[in-house]
Amino acid sequence: MEAEVLERINRGVIMRTGAYLTNDHFVISSGRHAREYVEKRLVTTEPAFTEGLGDIIAQHFAASPVDVVLTSGIGATILGNCVAGAHPSRPKLLYAVKGKGKEGKTEVTLPREFSPFLYRGSSALIVEDILTTGSTIRALIRLVEEREGRVVGIGSLWNRNTRVKFHSPFFALVNQNFPTYVREECPLCQKGIPLNAEYGVAVGGAPRRGRGARRTGS
Ligand SMILES: [Zn+2]
Repeated sequence: MEAEVLERINRGVIMRTGAYLTNDHFVISSGRHAREYVEKRLVTTEPAFTEGLGDIIAQHFAASPVDVVLTSGIGATILGNCVAGAHPSRPKLLYAVKGKGKEGKTEVTLPREFSPFLYRGSSALIVEDILTTGSTIRALIRLVEEREGRVVGIGSLWNRNTRVKFHSPFFALVNQNFPTYVREECPLCQKGIPLNAEYGVAVGGAPRRGRGARRTGS
């Protein structure tokens, strides 16, 4: 029960950044349609909120000694900086560069300058902003393991895919899946509700509502 209350508070904070949009009609990156959307670029726009959310993640893992906070992506790194600053071990913040490997698989590379900080026996706390498929987190885990470090935990703002499991302790401020639909079975399309043109992925298939029009949930 307490966890539910905390999640509601955290979701409220994220909603105040304008990143959590609901009661609308979006095309998400998979091409499926949804009523809800988390715009990851907006989630770190308010420094005081990011610090507060980063602090909660740091406190969750406060009992584990951490040498490095490891991220990939700009939003995750902004959050990771806040987590690193609030963790009692005073870890360093390292970010890996994301790319696509063979067959489109997400891969990450640690810039050479960071190499001395991630070595055999290092304790790493991985920080991600929005977890959708878990592919970035898995790539970061591989990076740590290749260097014979240890992943002490994984912290995230929002877990949109609660089916994804990791071997290391995982903590998300909000765990919430969205119902998504293929276009042919989308109840919002069937009601003729226009797609949100500002957020989500631009594809054809339904009338679009332009900038400046009604937006709900923020
Ligand atoms: Zn639809």
